[in-house]
Amino acid sequence: MIDPFGRNVSYLRVSVTDRCDFRCVYCMSENMTFLPKADVLSLEELDRLCSAFIDKGVQKLRLTGGEPLVRRNIMSLVKNLSRHLKTGALKELTLTTNGSQLTKYATKLVDYGIKRINVSVDTLDADKFREITRWGELEKVLAGIRAARDAGLAIKINTVALKDVNEGEIESMVRWCGEEGLDMTLIETMPLGDIGGERADQYLPLSKVRARLNEALTLSDIDHKTGGPARYTAVKETGRMLGFITPLTHNFCEGCNRVRLTCTGTLYMCLGQDDAADLRTPLRASESDDGLHTAIDEAIGRKPKGHDFVIDRKGAAPALERHMSVTGG
Ligand code: SAM
Ligand code: SF4
Repeated sequence: MIDPFGRNVSYLRVSVTDRCDFRCVYCMSENMTFLPKADVLSLEELDRLCSAFIDKGVQKLRLTGGEPLVRRNIMSLVKNLSRHLKTGALKELTLTTNGSQLTKYATKLVDYGIKRINVSVDTLDADKFREITRWGELEKVLAGIRAARDAGLAIKINTVALKDVNEGEIESMVRWCGEEGLDMTLIETMPLGDIGGERADQYLPLSKVRARLNEALTLSDIDHKTGGPARYTAVKETGRMLGFITPLTHNFCEGCNRVRLTCTGTLYMCLGQDDAADLRTPLRASESDDGLHTAIDEAIGRKPKGHDFVIDRKGAAPALERHMSVTGG
């Protein structure tokens, strides 16, 4: 699938549910209205849609959400999709999780061919963790990370940099990742969805974080490419990688190889734009995948050049109305 700017779209991220057992302050408001269950695709329909994308050239697929591991029976989808790993059509099946269910699922994930996962952790202070996630328990997540590591999964920690919240803790988190054998990626907050608070208060530019880290650690740029937007550095003191995702201070769109599917079958060709394609209608219209393939081709033909995020003014509306939990980050 080649888009109008010559980019090869080979990476699909699928939000399998918009629901979550946490309510992170930068991601959701306390009282969320979730999608009606009737609008959500069944796991069989999600499998058919994902498989159509794999037929069309998708080689990497990431399950996300909401929290992917709280969707009922999610392991049956993982198991079914793993058939494409066996044929070699899919090179990687992975997921992004908040870690709360990993003690339960780590071994199964490995059984179904998953080799690495991303786990989101913004602080190692249990009280602060509760404040950020509103509903989460740090100890449970740390136990999940240990279970995943013991099961043989490679883990990358995703940490959203939050002004005045975890900004003083980032260096110690980088060191902790080193001790635990984990890579890490720092993320800037993106203006997605009403969160019932002020985003300008949360926003911490990673240029500032990196400058501060440079005073204590030796970071050197490396040419590690995952097909994602992160720029990677090697941390001499820990021997691990540290990535920076800077949608606001650095535009990462030139090399974008991905599209995002929601659990209702809506395809977003860009995380930062509203244009979307409805794939549920062609999916349900026929047992043949022909109409679906045509709809996918049309959508890829509209993939925009890039996003226009800005968080500059107090009181500004979010750049987009939908929450990150809908498109899955
Ligand atoms: N629930 C899973 C998790 O937290 O890892 C998967 C979905 S979550 C939406 C995916 C990633 O997006 C997480 O690392 C989260 O920290 C990040 N995220 C959520 N809202 C964000 C925002 N407004 N700006 C930047 N990152 C955000
Ligand atoms: Fe849930 Fe992940 Fe959003 Fe936190 S970031 S509320 S864990 S979907």
